[in-house]
Amino acid sequence: MSVTVRFAPSPTGRLHAGNIRTALINWAFAHRAGGRFLLRLDDTDKERSTEEFAQGIREDLTWLGLDWDREVRQSDRFDRYAEAVARLKARGRLYPAYETPDELELKRKRQLARGRPPVYDRAALKLSDADRAKLEAEGRKPHWRFLLESRDVVWSDLVRGEQHVDAASLSDPVLVRADGTYLYTLPSVVDDIDLGITHVIRGEDHVANTAPQIQLFEALGATAPSFGHHNLLVGAEGQALSKRERALSIEALREEGLEPLAVASYAATIGTSDPVAHHGSLNELAAGFAFAKLSRAPARFDVQELRLLNAKLLHALAYGVVAERLSAMEVGGGEAFWHAVRGNLATLPDAKAWWQVVNGPLEPVIADASLCGQAAVLLPPEPWDGSTWQMWSADVKQATGAKGKSLFQPLRLALTGRDHGPELKALLPLIGRDRALARLEGKTA
Ligand code: GLU
Repeated sequence: MSVTVRFAPSPTGRLHAGNIRTALINWAFAHRAGGRFLLRLDDTDKERSTEEFAQGIREDLTWLGLDWDREVRQSDRFDRYAEAVARLKARGRLYPAYETPDELELKRKRQLARGRPPVYDRAALKLSDADRAKLEAEGRKPHWRFLLESRDVVWSDLVRGEQHVDAASLSDPVLVRADGTYLYTLPSVVDDIDLGITHVIRGEDHVANTAPQIQLFEALGATAPSFGHHNLLVGAEGQALSKRERALSIEALREEGLEPLAVASYAATIGTSDPVAHHGSLNELAAGFAFAKLSRAPARFDVQELRLLNAKLLHALAYGVVAERLSAMEVGGGEAFWHAVRGNLATLPDAKAWWQVVNGPLEPVIADASLCGQAAVLLPPEPWDGSTWQMWSADVKQATGAKGKSLFQPLRLALTGRDHGPELKALLPLIGRDRALARLEGKTA
């Protein structure tokens, strides 16, 4: 059976770093195994799910470079869920219950007060037909619970190892609400069966769903897939990540100008035994993936650390990788410009400012008018290359007697308008003689 996995976000918000970690792990696992990676949109909540968020999810995944073999929307599959409900009812595994949320809460409190675990007492199973008819005549509508078998559920978690859950310690999960809408449990299992999912890989927050889901797979006549629950991400302060926190959304990281590969590398390497480092490509990332590397503790997602990784990645990035994006930003200068400035970039869009330094217009800063005036006179004729700066600055040094910082700083300020930046040796030929001359004379150029 070939490996088939799915990434199953709800289109009720944009993806955040934690979501894409799940996506990356699934993608990497499928990629390594030569299997399939599906995108499943869990959009049964019609009020909160929007096409705009669905589109945002596709855009975020595409931006990261994650491609999927097939997209499935739960909202297209309600008839399949209804069939599963009918089958479970026919097998006596789905029963109607009528308690209101307040009544359930009261039961819980009583159980806790008596030192008992707050497990649903299955009172609804004891209702007679007449009891039910009476409740319905009062205007109550049933919700539907899945009757768990009281037995140990065991699975070998891809991340957490052997897991045992005593189903007798769990409440029978509600699968269908009183208004007829589905909770996530049933649609997820029905889809996993229909789509031939071989491995369900998701965050640790879903561990508690697994034992009931395994029983549900079996109740529907299927064999449960393998399960793996990876550690979750928390923010730099240890807070849980939420869809509402825009700062860690993929959209915000992209708008900040971070590299998709830096974001993917960071999300995939934190919380693992690998050092936090950038990969050369997603394929490389997939090749290095192993469940055994995932640590059990939550992984800290620190945007500051991501930014440093991003800068490191940019400093070594080949021109070919960024050429198209540079030209979309109207940054010219080709490979020579890229090699001159990449070491000074925190994000790719920073290249725009350096392009303006090279290409103008730029208002020079004249800190030492006499030195700049003499330097202007000494500018050699073009063509210029990597050795021009060395020769010219030596001439200026000789003519003015200035050296070290008092030589270089006024030249840098005049030529670039800034007191720091890429090597002048690389910038000077890019700036060219006309602009250099004008700037040394204090003119905007
Ligand atoms: N829609 C669920 C979530 O985003 C999917 C969980 C699962 O992978 O089973 O949490």
